[in-house]
Amino acid sequence: MNGSFPRFLKVAVFAPLRSFFDYLYPTHSTDAIAPGCRVMVPFGRSTRIGMVVGAAETSHIDKPKLKAICEVLDLTPIIDPSLLSLAAWAIDYYHCPPGEVYEALLPGELRRGNALRTSEKEFWKITESGKKMLVTGHKLGPRQRETLLRASDGELSRDALGSERVTLNRVIADCTRRGWLYSMRRAVLPDPLVIPYDNFLALNPAQTAAMTHLQGIKTGYRTHLLHGVTGSGKTEIYLHLVRDVVAVGGQALILIPEIGLTEQLVKRFEARFGTLVAVLHSGLGERARAEVWQRCKTQEIRVLLGTRSAVWLPLPELRLIVVDEEHDQSYKQQEGLRYSARDIAVVRAHRVGIPIVLGSATPSLESLLNCDRGKYQYVAIPSRAAGATLPRIQVLDIRGLHVEAGLSEPLQAAIKLRASRGEQSLIFLNRRGFAPVVLCHRCGWIASCPRCDARLVIHKEEQQLRCHHCGTARNLKARFAGHPCGELTTFASVGVGTEQLESAMPILFPGLRAIRIDRDSMTRKGELERAFETINAGDVDILVGTQMIAKGHDFSRVTLVGIVDGDSGLLATDFRAEERFVQLIMQVAGRAGRGINSGEVLIQSHHPHHPAFEYLKRGDYREFADHALRERSAAELPPETTLALLRAEATERPIPLRFLQQLVATLKPLLPAGVTLGGPIPALMERRIGKFRANLLLTSHDRATLSEAITLMLRQIDHCPLARKVRWSLDVDAQEIA
Ligand code: ADP
Ligand code: ZN
Repeated sequence: MNGSFPRFLKVAVFAPLRSFFDYLYPTHSTDAIAPGCRVMVPFGRSTRIGMVVGAAETSHIDKPKLKAICEVLDLTPIIDPSLLSLAAWAIDYYHCPPGEVYEALLPGELRRGNALRTSEKEFWKITESGKKMLVTGHKLGPRQRETLLRASDGELSRDALGSERVTLNRVIADCTRRGWLYSMRRAVLPDPLVIPYDNFLALNPAQTAAMTHLQGIKTGYRTHLLHGVTGSGKTEIYLHLVRDVVAVGGQALILIPEIGLTEQLVKRFEARFGTLVAVLHSGLGERARAEVWQRCKTQEIRVLLGTRSAVWLPLPELRLIVVDEEHDQSYKQQEGLRYSARDIAVVRAHRVGIPIVLGSATPSLESLLNCDRGKYQYVAIPSRAAGATLPRIQVLDIRGLHVEAGLSEPLQAAIKLRASRGEQSLIFLNRRGFAPVVLCHRCGWIASCPRCDARLVIHKEEQQLRCHHCGTARNLKARFAGHPCGELTTFASVGVGTEQLESAMPILFPGLRAIRIDRDSMTRKGELERAFETINAGDVDILVGTQMIAKGHDFSRVTLVGIVDGDSGLLATDFRAEERFVQLIMQVAGRAGRGINSGEVLIQSHHPHHPAFEYLKRGDYREFADHALRERSAAELPPETTLALLRAEATERPIPLRFLQQLVATLKPLLPAGVTLGGPIPALMERRIGKFRANLLLTSHDRATLSEAITLMLRQIDHCPLARKVRWSLDVDAQEIA
């Protein structure tokens, strides 16, 4: 072995283990192995794939126990240094298993150790002897001559052969064998100048002002929070920013929420940037994902639109990141590798040294606080582009009013009025199914899930009782243990779901056309698209839907938005419930009045004087956010403080709680000052999918202190006798803490 080599390699093995592993260089190897190369390593009794992350002179493991790498899978790194450093950051910050983060950087095939497929194309160039043949080669056939002539004029590509492809292929192979041509491979980069630049709208004064802000510092890292009301033209600004990046050969990453409804946004990007755009979403198969990964790496793709996981894709010429709807909860992965794609994106921009724009009509309190603290730049667009006005938000006091299928008489009247004017109404209810509670009309038994602490929801169309937490689905006539009557022959229901709302439409509004949009009614491919077409064509009077219609989609004919249940969001226990409620209402409100007629939002409530409604009525999100930030600060809750949640679950009820109690007993004396423990307590829904769950919360004003406490805690877990009997997970910056 070359004496100047470091002696050990640090490897992130692709396994859910919270440490790196040291290995010796492969025997007989004389080459350095760079970070970012995959290797096959002995692991226990078998082998595993992992990624080299560094080299070292020393190892804390005794040399006789160290094993050597079995095989080097990549001769050159497949992950570039900026992504390697991003991964290192994520491992540190989220305290997660290193192998899982490096796996997130790779498409499935590469995780399993397959070779990198190249999307390179083959070219031929003429050699010196080929040139000589052209001058002296009287023995050349006409096809050979033609081929050499074409190759002598720069280079010959397979694509250029056109219809003669089949015949010329053989001639080319022959010329290559004789040494007259040589072949080479390289990726084909599209020409950014093909963008039709006149396809862009001229920005209005408010957009121009925002743009000037965003471009103020053209190079270098900077996080901008673009707070623009729905319809203020944020997307148009993104398009302009991306254009500037692509024009100089750069790449742009646009993160979008996971709602399957961003079709309109994707179309707008494709219309401007054509084949330079690719979309990465959860519906893509492994092959397609691998291809997008590859084409990003070769820079064929200049504009990558993608949900959460797109933040990990290789983009060597990355010059801009945009996170659209930055407050959206889908950016937080809730299982496995629990990360926030928005936060990773900010760190990525910082590492690469490029600007990032976080856009939203209802920014997260986290991002607003970062603006207040001077970490992010705040840019606002207060009014709608294209002249449309924002809808007026009003609260309907429904106390004592007659309500049918969830709709009060004033709301019914408002819907009828719109329909008589040829306008559409959108009725929002974030609850699927017919009714959330079902009772046996004979004995009063309540249908609940056998695996969760939850009620079963009745879905009349499918004649099913379903659990919305674990997916359990039973026939309405099924026999349940504990139900004295055995079978549900007649039932009563409490509460209203979208299915019930839809079925009441012909009764409440004879002659009007209604359509329901939720996950149950839109299951087939293309169905949603068709529904949107019907709506936009004006062939519908009433839209009933869940949050599937709340985000991302514009309905220009909708002038009334009815919020059926304006109470549930305000009565929830989660400290973020109010923030989410206000965001959701403002997002739904943003769907209305995009056309020439201004819109109106009616919120039904039994608590019309709740302070949150005052902010909604004034339509001032910033004012609401400032108030909420003050509350969080007083209560020492995020974003004022930082938190991490340790969850434990087991099949026996007392085990998770006891495990956390054991942990707390050993951890408490070691905890750094300034860290508060919350719990341990059973989860709000203690039993879920047959497992009992308990939580322990760690909070601190200082992120570094919190991180230190987590490190200590993870070390203590191994000393807890019950650790082997539970499954536990750590969620740094948890969004769901109940
Ligand atoms: P946001 O992303 O903030 O919701 P959009 O970019 O989708 O806003 O713009 C809302 C509507 O206004 C769209 O129909 C868009 O085509 C239109 N629009 C945006 N900017 C302009 C502009 N500068 N001139 C004319 N229309 C515009
Ligand atoms: Zn269940």
